[in-house]
Amino acid sequence: MKKLIAGNWKMNMNREDAIKLAFSLVSFASESPKIDDKCDILLCPPFTYISQVKEICKDSVISVGAQDCSFHENGAYTGEISANMLYDIGCNYVIIGHSERRQYHGETDDIVLNKVCAARQEGLISIVCIGETKEERDKKKHEDIIISQLAASIPDGMNSQNIVIAYEPVWAIGTGKTASPDDVFDMHKLIRSELKSRFSDGSDIRILYGGSMKPDNAKQLLSIENVDGGLIGGASLKADQFTSIIQKA
Ligand code: PEP
Repeated sequence: MKKLIAGNWKMNMNREDAIKLAFSLVSFASESPKIDDKCDILLCPPFTYISQVKEICKDSVISVGAQDCSFHENGAYTGEISANMLYDIGCNYVIIGHSERRQYHGETDDIVLNKVCAARQEGLISIVCIGETKEERDKKKHEDIIISQLAASIPDGMNSQNIVIAYEPVWAIGTGKTASPDDVFDMHKLIRSELKSRFSDGSDIRILYGGSMKPDNAKQLLSIENVDGGLIGGASLKADQFTSIIQKA
């Protein structure tokens, strides 16, 4: 399966830095012939920079997405951004249920499921994040957590064209700690088997790994069976690090 390398810029950068980074990545992509035969590239900037980054990427193979959306279609929801607004400014993807949103904004599986439905309605591809905390892993509950998050946050009837799963152990995000290759293998195998048992094209749904993926561990992580790409936080903010990960993919 073609890998997907997605950069989650989170709440980082200013306009000038965002523009510079986008230009660097576009020039890297244009100097890398047929890169899109091997790898899809996605940038998810903060909402305020999406339009500008999209404009810079418009003639390149790089896609642009958002880090969240509302589950409401429109109306009196101050501060919210709808899936239709994201579609309207050229987004193809939206990250939903990132652990930081689950943790700091109280997003439950049910909210995540409703956001995925809203994104699907507008033709956006949802990247749904799931992952266990350190405490859950220590108590050996990680498999149950993943199974229940998958069951409760993914609506019925999804397929490989409208959903991507990102397995992101919460304790590995932004900490410099990565899950061991054996753990990544086991968790991705479990996720694949759940997807296959629920969706007719479950073997084609991409499963990304996220959690301190860097140039020095990307090759190993990306070569594990059922790891179909990476969701990258910190290393997506530096052109040299992000492009190095893309090259490994
Ligand atoms: C993330 O936020 O999705 C992530 C994986 O972050 P980092 O790469 O910084 O661990």
